[in-house]
Amino acid sequence: MQKSEENFNNFKDFPKNYDYQAVEKKIAQYWEDNDTYSFDFFDTEKEIFSADTPPPYVSSAHLHVGHVMSYSQAEFIVRYKRMKGFNVFYPMGFDDNGLPTERYVEKKYKINKSKITREEFIDLCLKETKIGIETYKALWKSAGISVDYRLSYSTIDERCRKTSQKSFIDLYHKKLMERRNEPILWCPQCRTSLAQADIIIEELNGILYDIEFKSSSGQGLIISTTRPELLGACVAIYANPLDDRYRFLNGQSVKTPLYNKDVPVKYDETVDINYGTGLMMVCTWGDAEDVRKWKEHKLDTAIIIDKAGRLNEAAGAYSGLTARDAKRAIVDDLKKLSFIKGEKPLLHNVGVHDRCETPVEFIRELQWFIKILDNKDKFLEAASEIKWYPDFMKPRYDEWVNNLKWDWNISRQRFYGVPFPVWYCANCGEVILAKEDELPVDPAVAHPNIIKCPKCGGEKFDPETDVMDTWMTSSMTPLINALWAYDSRTADKKKLLDRIYPMSLRPQAQEIIRTWLFYTVVKSIYHTGNIPFKNVMISGWGLDKNGKKMSKSLGNFVGPEEIINKYSADALRYWASKANLGQDLRFNEEDAVNGRRLLIKLWNAARFLITNVNEGFNPYEKDISELELGEVDKWVITEFENTLKICGNYMESYEYSSSLKAMVDFFYNVYCDNYLEIIKNVFWDEEEENFDRKDKALNVMYFVSFNMIKIFAPFFPFITEELYLSFYKNFETAGSIHLSNWPDYRKELNFESSIKIAKILLNIIEASRKLRTSLNLHQNHKIDKLLVKTLNNDYISILNSVNSDIKSAARAKRMIFSDEADFKTADDNLFIKIEK
Ligand SMILES: [Zn+2]
Ligand SMILES: [Zn+2]
Repeated sequence: MQKSEENFNNFKDFPKNYDYQAVEKKIAQYWEDNDTYSFDFFDTEKEIFSADTPPPYVSSAHLHVGHVMSYSQAEFIVRYKRMKGFNVFYPMGFDDNGLPTERYVEKKYKINKSKITREEFIDLCLKETKIGIETYKALWKSAGISVDYRLSYSTIDERCRKTSQKSFIDLYHKKLMERRNEPILWCPQCRTSLAQADIIIEELNGILYDIEFKSSSGQGLIISTTRPELLGACVAIYANPLDDRYRFLNGQSVKTPLYNKDVPVKYDETVDINYGTGLMMVCTWGDAEDVRKWKEHKLDTAIIIDKAGRLNEAAGAYSGLTARDAKRAIVDDLKKLSFIKGEKPLLHNVGVHDRCETPVEFIRELQWFIKILDNKDKFLEAASEIKWYPDFMKPRYDEWVNNLKWDWNISRQRFYGVPFPVWYCANCGEVILAKEDELPVDPAVAHPNIIKCPKCGGEKFDPETDVMDTWMTSSMTPLINALWAYDSRTADKKKLLDRIYPMSLRPQAQEIIRTWLFYTVVKSIYHTGNIPFKNVMISGWGLDKNGKKMSKSLGNFVGPEEIINKYSADALRYWASKANLGQDLRFNEEDAVNGRRLLIKLWNAARFLITNVNEGFNPYEKDISELELGEVDKWVITEFENTLKICGNYMESYEYSSSLKAMVDFFYNVYCDNYLEIIKNVFWDEEEENFDRKDKALNVMYFVSFNMIKIFAPFFPFITEELYLSFYKNFETAGSIHLSNWPDYRKELNFESSIKIAKILLNIIEASRKLRTSLNLHQNHKIDKLLVKTLNNDYISILNSVNSDIKSAARAKRMIFSDEADFKTADDNLFIKIEK
């Protein structure tokens, strides 16, 4: 490529300091203006790499450095794949429907849901969603996340509503979607039903009360329970059939204290003989086991807790109290009447809602369920077809599937979500589905596309007023990306389904294995019979410096903008690269400091090359392998190629952290501390200017540094791009370093013998530096003679072959073999002496 005079002058003026703030802004704009990260819809040759980007919850106030960490980690891999020549499909999603947004809006505006209309509330949610999306976009832009915004979706937009509704209809037709009137998990705080995945188990302090019941034969029976407030909902007493103590109760009933209700005695092998007295009170419903026994043994139903978590009329005197207050009142009364025979503190497991940490209750309601319990095997098998990075995360998924106790309840009694595409006949209750070509539909606004109920001829229809679980939409992300809902209509778009599905990579956080990952597998298997993605990459958490989760309320929140302004986005990404896959990482400002130091060193190293380049320089006049390379050149190239090979292997197995570390070590220890130190004197020596040596060194520096910044590019996209655009691009064809090719390992550039030679040379240089220090001689002072003595005859020819590099690096006019050399180097066979 021909160079203009002007450019070379610019090279001489290459800035001394790296102004990261100006550069990062400029480069981010450059990528945007040039569509650098666009997926090429028309390229059918290149293999596609597609990533199922996690759509973050759009609540703009909670972003901390940990979020940037997990997105950057996946992004390192995506950028690597792009440089490996893949046509990269890297979309951005925003998860803005559902409870997380509702709760955010409720908190921000201090909303009482009973005093605001559905429309007003949804408007506020939409408004916050919009702000959130802009905040995220600005942050991802400044953090260098290389998504293609043309591929964006938001889980409340038309495409996503259509996709979730089509999913509902498809599952309904496949008889995998059922409406049932069943006990369901309920959050009294959020006033909505929940699925098992929305519950987390917390260990809470409680009290185990020993309460006396009376058998019909008049015998006192002690039953231990942590939930006396549910006494009014007690429908049976259970014992283990193998427990001899309670055989005599067979056929009897038992009277509950306070309520004086007769309940039957039943036997079930699951009753733990050693828990309490071995007798168990079963209520409708205290937990999943209650529900199971209630179903299997067809027990009575006694509902005592309402949707607000308060006791209802059936609780008599306790009606209207919250469950917590009722517990206190009932325990008081039981004590007064001497029904409590003992109590002891107990740590017990309580299921709480993951969004608000309120203990969940059970109520019975008509709800929509996706059948999942019958197909656990399929879901386990699907997970085995997916490659897990790191593989130790897979057992978490398997354990979750194996422990599933409930089908997936997708009905939510909330506002801001995707509506069900469903009406019911007001007369007979027949389910009327929307037609696929009307989707998305809001049944509260639209009418069904029929005049009469096909079952009873009724003409009045009621819309389903619940909305769908937010995971009902986010579980569709691979199919949202692949335009699955548009499959039958557009031939063009069908191709996308064939091309990007299953997706190449699902990056995600560990705590949503049980939700996002699992549900996505369920949906993909049900809809397509295929796995949703081939690889899954699980990130750990970004924690504060003490290993605690970051939050604004704890005051340990570190915002990404603050760190980007202070140290640069590349430096923040350097910190993010420190965690191995799947491992938590504490935020340590020192890492950002080190990151910035590395960037400055990169800048200075590049600057040394750039400012020494003269007119006519052409790195491609000859291939590097055709140059007559000196031993030091061969050595640095060999070390580089070896490192390159290691980096490539690490990146292939998603070990980005080890990859970067290997190249950073090469950069500091081999390239800067030794190669540049040896070679720089060639450029400074005005007495013995050696043009040929300079030219070769420039070629080697170009080769090594250009390929090296390519390896750094996925991690530090800004500085590498700036160096590329302002210098390397003059000799290259790609419009961006991120669109250039990841370098291939070249076996012919492995000069194994040069490593041994370089070692001898480096030992001499190191010793000469030490010796200068002890002689109080400035490192740059040119000495007259460097005396060398070796006890190994093989060294002589080697030392002669690197004679000029030794002289240059040791700043010596001559190198002479002499027995006078008495300063021992790190090599026992090698001594030196300096003569000023
Ligand atoms: Zn809740
Ligand atoms: Zn009907």
